[in-house]
Amino acid sequence: MDIPSCDMCEHPAAWRRPWDNTLVCIMHFNKSFLKKVQKTINKYQMLKRDDIIAIGLSGGKDSVVLLDVMAKLQKNHSTKLIAISIDEGIENYRENGLHFAKLAAERADVEHHIFSYKEFFGYDLDEALMILGENRLSPCSYCGPFRRKLLNEAARKVGATKLITGHNADDEAQTLLMNVMRGDLLKTLHSNPIPKFKNKAFVNRVKPFRRTTEQEIVVYANLNQIPYQEMSCPHAVEAYRGKIRNILTNLSVDDPGVIFSIINSADSLHDLGGLVSNNLKHDGNKEIFDCKKCGEPTNNELCNSCRLIIEIENRENM
Ligand code: SF4
Ligand code: ZN
Repeated sequence: MDIPSCDMCEHPAAWRRPWDNTLVCIMHFNKSFLKKVQKTINKYQMLKRDDIIAIGLSGGKDSVVLLDVMAKLQKNHSTKLIAISIDEGIENYRENGLHFAKLAAERADVEHHIFSYKEFFGYDLDEALMILGENRLSPCSYCGPFRRKLLNEAARKVGATKLITGHNADDEAQTLLMNVMRGDLLKTLHSNPIPKFKNKAFVNRVKPFRRTTEQEIVVYANLNQIPYQEMSCPHAVEAYRGKIRNILTNLSVDDPGVIFSIINSADSLHDLGGLVSNNLKHDGNKEIFDCKKCGEPTNNELCNSCRLIIEIENRENM
């Protein structure tokens, strides 16, 4: 079978972009991929030239591809790029992810640090779930806040001024739809992609893949032969997000640009959020405090992870 050639050169095409049907060879795919990430960083003013960037490196496709791309773009931005991985202590899963994270850090030739829940919180996730027993929230309800917290601490420890994560356009579109369906649109209004927190305990986070789809990331990993962890976490049962993902996958068949339309809507909401932020400050629920235990910004007296750790400690001492 004849392989069609790239729409921009004579080389064989490696991929057809679903939203505009353009055929691209490996070189043109890579070029446009990097250009798009750079454009996203510029559009949202995600990074400054002298930022020290910590990258959350789980070993999954998003984070290993982000590391590869950022190492290539680094000369435009950063004095330093440092990889940090979080070991939640999930048996038969995390060791495998750390293996791919180490490979990615070696390939990109960046410093790599591993931080564990056990060392920081005093408990592995598996251990904490055992202590909590049956009468508890889902594993992700503990693990999510712990990871956010430890990533922040890790970024501070390595001296980073920004924390980047591999959340992609699909993740962002799913999150917006979930907020809509849960009647919590204010969450989107408040989660501005342009970092602006000025709390010294908090390293601002940005998502350079905000406009890059999961499909593009998989294609990049495959074309560039970047190995990544394919195994899913045994606790991953976020059923609601899975349903939203299926809806978006079905919609994308007829309208391949639907993910970008949703991201554009989210951007309009953030702009609106900026315009009405003065009014929102008067909304009692949205006042920002410093967590009494750790000092991180939070909507309550204690941040989520401090509250959950106290729950585990209390349960252990019962
Ligand atoms: Fe943690 Fe849930 Fe992610 Fe597993 S799926 S790593 S438990 S947040
Ligand atoms: Zn706290």
